[in-house]
Amino acid sequence: MSSKYSKIGLKAGLEIHQQLDTKEKLFCSCEPNLFKEDPEFTFIRRLRPAQSELGQVDSAALFEFQKETKILYEANNDTACLVEMDEEPPHDLNREAVEITVLASLMMNMKPVDEVHVMRKTVIDGSNTTGFQRTCVVALNGEIDIKGKMVAISQVSLEEDAARKMGKDGQLLRYRIDRLGIPLIEVTTAPVIYSPEEAQETAAAIGRILRATRRVRRGLGTIRQDVNVSIRDGALIEIKGVQELELVSQVIENEVQRQLSLLQIRDELTKLGVKEADITEDFIDVTKVFKNTKCKVIAKAIKQNNPVLAVKLHGFAGLLKKELSTGMRLGSELAGMARFWGRVGGIFHTDEMPDYGVTEEELTQLARILKKEPQDAVVFVADTPENATDALKAVVERARVALRRIPEETRSANPDGTTKYMRPRPGAARMYPETDVPPIQLTKEYLDELAGRLPELPEQLMKRLMTKYKLNRKLAKQILDSEYLELFESLAGETKVSETVIAVAFTETLKALERDGVNVEAITDEQFREMFRLIGSGKTVKESIPEILTWLAENEDATVKAALESLGISMMSRKELEDLVNDVIEKNSEFIELRGKNAFGSLMGIIMKKARGRVKAKLVNEMLKSKLGND
Ligand SMILES: [Zn+2]
Repeated sequence: MSSKYSKIGLKAGLEIHQQLDTKEKLFCSCEPNLFKEDPEFTFIRRLRPAQSELGQVDSAALFEFQKETKILYEANNDTACLVEMDEEPPHDLNREAVEITVLASLMMNMKPVDEVHVMRKTVIDGSNTTGFQRTCVVALNGEIDIKGKMVAISQVSLEEDAARKMGKDGQLLRYRIDRLGIPLIEVTTAPVIYSPEEAQETAAAIGRILRATRRVRRGLGTIRQDVNVSIRDGALIEIKGVQELELVSQVIENEVQRQLSLLQIRDELTKLGVKEADITEDFIDVTKVFKNTKCKVIAKAIKQNNPVLAVKLHGFAGLLKKELSTGMRLGSELAGMARFWGRVGGIFHTDEMPDYGVTEEELTQLARILKKEPQDAVVFVADTPENATDALKAVVERARVALRRIPEETRSANPDGTTKYMRPRPGAARMYPETDVPPIQLTKEYLDELAGRLPELPEQLMKRLMTKYKLNRKLAKQILDSEYLELFESLAGETKVSETVIAVAFTETLKALERDGVNVEAITDEQFREMFRLIGSGKTVKESIPEILTWLAENEDATVKAALESLGISMMSRKELEDLVNDVIEKNSEFIELRGKNAFGSLMGIIMKKARGRVKAKLVNEMLKSKLGND
């Protein structure tokens, strides 16, 4: 496996972001929580145009784009104050967050800095009300052992999480600022990872160390992975926001395949003799072709007096629909550029035609006007003259680049492991000192004190889980990799339920339910606690766990008692069970006569099926035996 990747020169690096479980946010005293209700207040800001982050040509266009964009920020009073609104300077750096970050750094053999300086890093998308993200380097140059190889951890930073995007209506973006300012640790590896599997293992190992601090948040979105990928002759691609650890290797595999396919396309175009000069910004107004069109998007644009502009891409016929990697095509690469630079909803191209209500007749006319030859593709866009022009310019630029190389990009990860174009790759992010927050000294005394109370490392933790709770190795590892380690340990001593049963519930059972689409994140610690308490006291049985959890996930804030009642799985009384056993014996009297003692197994099966989850097998066994005279 790895030889395949070393042959193509794969190099990958990771950035792991994990929210810390602190009492307060990083620069104010607000609750570090997300709210689900309607916002208590909102405010509108213009996007702060940033000239700095992108290349010079790009930034001019971006500046124009940003000027038009407005943002509606949503907030409530528990999770946001004047600091998040950028109406008041940030308070001092949260010491609790610094402590967790230093502890995690020491666990990765890193060297903490002498002084923690808060810096501002420009962000261009409105996800910070200030126009920048506050971040500080806490430690440098560590390493962790991945199956005998020491993987270099180049940096650990502490930063503020950004606001979360809620939607977009034209030029109005909606962000919720509850997440803004939640402390986030960022762990950056060197680009020394040489296969998708190794990346996955490294991400898992870092996640384990962070969880071993026992002071990180859990749940979807609390850990996010960014991946940098390059191959020889390819490009350095930054992929943002891989939400599931399991997806890291797949995202890298897909990216490698995407780059290999783009190189193939480059070679095909070279073979065809296509030159950059063949692909020109000759945009032709083809509105009249579509004056009676059935294509909804185009009809709507024309009704608003907008044109349809088209451009010919010489030599690209068939290449736009070519699958680069699962679910990714060259056509979608062009569309991504058009969306970003042209602010359009999307593009049409002849490789996917006829479709979307565009007819053969319209395509014939289009081909005639553009003098399209069979080897050519045509891309067309319906939008304002300005947007359509910008979109097609981006398309032409991307097509020209395809003749030479793979462009460096920032891409965003989709939930299925594919990626899409997000924006050009910024140069080294410019940092400015945050003068409103004083630096913090990490004194020798402070570091010695923390080193003296380092949390257990994952290996130690694993050993303890196996000895103290008698978990097998596999289960111990699963608990370690789950987000329920804390809760598991607190419940393990609290009820009479066996630790293995609890561990299985938090790992295999939850995974299986999740696969079936159950929203297990909705189940609260208190509900888990009550469930195990009721199992421990014999009010219900462990076999009912999947059913109970499924019900709880759908009935927020309900009690487990309510679940048992609603599901009809409260334990049967002795009397009820006796009636059931008698009934089954009576209905099967002939069978019992025929089989004698051998009837026991079948009868047991019938009763357990009828009383599933409501009796203990041991009790049924005893009762049935005595009634059949099997003792
Ligand atoms: Zn606040």
